[in-house]
Amino acid sequence: MRDTAMFSIIDKEAKRQKQNVELIASENFVSKEVREAQGSVLTNKYAEGYPGKRYYGGCVYVDQAEDLTRQRAKELFKAEHANVQPHSGSQANMAVYNTLLQPGDVVLGMDLAAGGHLTHGHPLNFSGTLYKFVAYNVDPETELIDYDALEELAIKTQPKLIVAGASAYPRIIDFKRFSEIAKKVNAYLMVDMAHIAGLVATGLHPSPIPYADFVTTTTHKTLRGPRGGMVFCKEEFAKKLDSKVFPGMQGGPLEHVIAAKGVCLYEASQPEFKSYMEQTLKNVQVMCKGFKEAGFRLVSGGSDNHLLLVDVLGSIGMTGKEAERLLDLAGITCNKNTIPYDTQKPFVTSGIRLGAAAMTTRGFKENEFEKVTDLMIQVLKSKDEEFAKKIREEVLKLTQDHPAEATF
Ligand code: PLP
Repeated sequence: MRDTAMFSIIDKEAKRQKQNVELIASENFVSKEVREAQGSVLTNKYAEGYPGKRYYGGCVYVDQAEDLTRQRAKELFKAEHANVQPHSGSQANMAVYNTLLQPGDVVLGMDLAAGGHLTHGHPLNFSGTLYKFVAYNVDPETELIDYDALEELAIKTQPKLIVAGASAYPRIIDFKRFSEIAKKVNAYLMVDMAHIAGLVATGLHPSPIPYADFVTTTTHKTLRGPRGGMVFCKEEFAKKLDSKVFPGMQGGPLEHVIAAKGVCLYEASQPEFKSYMEQTLKNVQVMCKGFKEAGFRLVSGGSDNHLLLVDVLGSIGMTGKEAERLLDLAGITCNKNTIPYDTQKPFVTSGIRLGAAAMTTRGFKENEFEKVTDLMIQVLKSKDEEFAKKIREEVLKLTQDHPAEATF
């Protein structure tokens, strides 16, 4: 008997995804093959342990799937060791903290208003309750990471670990400088490359792998895979890291998701994926140009990666919360986001974050992004809900010919 209640909800979500312009910087549209692997019979299998060393019988094929995924992960990112089991990005980070830290240890993480993630020391997150996170920030003028101030802070606080990487930082991160600072104070360096993993995989953002002791990532953002996490490290930490993921933190791995991660890594190693990431960068530049020409202030003045942050409060006196809602009425999905030194609460915010990875997957190029940017500017400047609802028609025309999945 089919669960019609649930499948009708899923159908509605599929329609929403197809009709809206999706600009949430942490989202993407996966390929049919990624979904096929994730929806496969591998979901039926228990496989606690690692390939060749499981606590269950019948693991011959899931061993092969996990080995293939690990191999592809190592090859794509040129890493010595990969653990592909973390269920999410947060758990990938937790695995590294469990490997290196004791409760109460001092860790440096990026200020959350400046773009750091919840797991980089938010007081309500496990990271902030278990460890003594101290925040480093961006320069108030340039809004770029202030590496000199970071170095001073590291010398003063003597952290055991420095965490680099962010959820909302639109510029290239200097991993070499981070590693020099970490070495100077004898701290470990972890880079959370969740947002930029697709750019790193294609050489469009410098790789953290040569500089960091540990690199974590999600697989579902620019990398365009299933929801999940991965950790990379040097061989010397491999055994300890693996034991901290299982049995340290998780039970049975999600082998169907691991297989889907493998498919995503295969896709990300194809030349088409590099063209896709290059187009994503071009599309972000189109949005930056449009907003700047319309008089909006962008955090740090622009972007080097797949996302930008618009200071809507400073530009037109509208909070991020209001902007998100108004754009949603027009069928354009984005998220409110704090900006450096934000004066508003995290649930209100002064900014919105816009990413191009998802709509680039759907085939949007410069023309479509010019049009979308123009529609966003009209809607935001109108401050008018009825006008926003009218713009929805234009948005529908733009999305209807673009299938909501990745194709090769
Ligand atoms: N790290 C960064 C930088 C992120 O942006 C995110 C998610 O947005 C995560 C980690 C956590 O990933 P997840 O939501 O899979 O736990």
